[in-house]
Amino acid sequence: ATYFILLLFIITTLPISTLNGTKTSKPQLLDINYFPTGALRTDPAATTAAATDYGHIVHRRPAAVLHPSSVDDIVKLLNLAHDHNNMNNNNTTTFTVAARGRSHSVRGQAMAAENGVVVDMMRLRTARYNSNVRVVVSPRGHRRRPYADVGGEALWIDVLDATLRHGVAPASWTDYLHLTVGGTLSNAGIGGQSFRHGPQISNVHEMDVVTGTGKLVTCSPSNNTDLFYAVLGGLGQFGIITRARIALHPAPKRVKWVRLLYSDFAAFTKDQERLISDRNHGGGVLPEVDYLEGSLMLHRGGSPPSSFFPAADVPRITSLVARHRLVYCLELAINSYVDGDRRQDELLERLVVEGRLNYLPGFAYSKDASYLEFLDRVRSGEVALHSRGLWEVPHPWLNLFVPKSRIADFGSGVFRDIVLRRNITTGPVLVYPMNRNKWDDRTSAVLPEAAEDVFYTVGFLHSSGFDDGGWEELEEQNKEIMEFCERSGMGVKQYLAHYATTEEWAKHFGAKWERFRHRKSAFDPMKMLSPGQRIFNS
Ligand code: FAD
Repeated sequence: ATYFILLLFIITTLPISTLNGTKTSKPQLLDINYFPTGALRTDPAATTAAATDYGHIVHRRPAAVLHPSSVDDIVKLLNLAHDHNNMNNNNTTTFTVAARGRSHSVRGQAMAAENGVVVDMMRLRTARYNSNVRVVVSPRGHRRRPYADVGGEALWIDVLDATLRHGVAPASWTDYLHLTVGGTLSNAGIGGQSFRHGPQISNVHEMDVVTGTGKLVTCSPSNNTDLFYAVLGGLGQFGIITRARIALHPAPKRVKWVRLLYSDFAAFTKDQERLISDRNHGGGVLPEVDYLEGSLMLHRGGSPPSSFFPAADVPRITSLVARHRLVYCLELAINSYVDGDRRQDELLERLVVEGRLNYLPGFAYSKDASYLEFLDRVRSGEVALHSRGLWEVPHPWLNLFVPKSRIADFGSGVFRDIVLRRNITTGPVLVYPMNRNKWDDRTSAVLPEAAEDVFYTVGFLHSSGFDDGGWEELEEQNKEIMEFCERSGMGVKQYLAHYATTEEWAKHFGAKWERFRHRKSAFDPMKMLSPGQRIFNS
């Protein structure tokens, strides 16, 4: 640390030799004059802002923060960092670089410590705000399907706003849209459409990536293929995504949004699996749904059920949850492409009334929403939590992928035992299945190794601000869940994984580890990118 602080001091006080773009010699690392005025910041205001994230658990202050106004600034930084590391690679600490998207990671994944620079992608978003989503509705050439070229720094809400204006939209979404394209593509980007369209990483045609060697490379399934698949789900390890070409489809206008309540976990998961089954498509037994998720409703001190439910029904739902202590809520949506679509109601009638879904009779609810309202549904909750000071609190989240064959064991061992016994769970607990054949095994994303057609995602989206317990108690629960899964040999994998050592990461990647390591050597040989993931810099 002392070495880098000294280096910074010397460099930032060097006489200006690179003004007006007329470089006299190769610029040194962190030469502030090499970047546009004010772009490279080392002041406490900038570095402190980059030292936190949505998790509020990890805090690391970087040496500097780059506020890029163009992709060129990022190329310059990665070139400098690569050359510097290359020259000094005689066992000195690598100088690291972390792209910071919306910093909605929960374990410091977008941070860099005192030997690193954070690239603040939100500044690039500001700089390119009106030009970072380009929608092409009728492309020429063989593909002929609409697409959008989107900056890696763009938020998904930017993509939705821009594409809806042309009557098109991406098919696969996260529940929350105020995340960057580069951030979710570095993980997978999952949500209620993933069972049918795959995660967001299955909906990308092409990307521009600045690799760890400082090169700006265009990659796709047919061009620089290995980089393309490495970066998707690649946890920021191979390069910084500056553009992604996202597949678009005709945009629905309205959504019929449905919630069904269950007291029996087996009935709940059986219905979820029936609804996502490929056999359902094209005139199967049940009508097709366009979105499917699920969540737990826990009896915790009488907290009221979601505002989704009609006020008049709140007392009976509350007493249902109190009686069972744990109720399962299946959530689905059916899209409509024309206003006033009666077909939606008919489909719903077929599905809920005739579909022999085994929810509790009398506990089916539906409402209509515009496509935009439905997709951006988490935003109002965010605004409400912000106003009560409850957004910026610790979030010790745990997200898992569970093989279908073990979801019943998970339900009894985790939900009915650990969660009910501890009775400290705050925030949503999501549980819903996805079809494995919608994921591409060539990407870096990690799924359960069990060769099964379906796996579940389970997300404990804890928020410690609601209670006195603090996040450590919730973290203890996370640990107990992980130990239970390990003991039971469930073969679960973490999503948005966080580990502290390379050995743990190797175990997480399993059969994919050697390829991941090999790709790291090829695209970021100095191991300088996204150190906050602690994969190669534990
Ligand atoms: P950051 O936290 O800024 O970065 C994440 C990682 O990606 C870091 O390692 C960073 O270095 C790297 N990175 C960032 N930008 C780039 C880039 N351009 N190129 C390469 N690497 C980059 N996830 C889901 O899948 N589905 C959900 O429904 C969902 N809902 C969420 C709701 C909330 C309220 C929150 C807080 C998170 C949610 N997430 C969800 C998780 C989210 O997808 C990840 O945390 C994602 O990383 C957040 O994007 P970000 O822009 O904040 O990334």
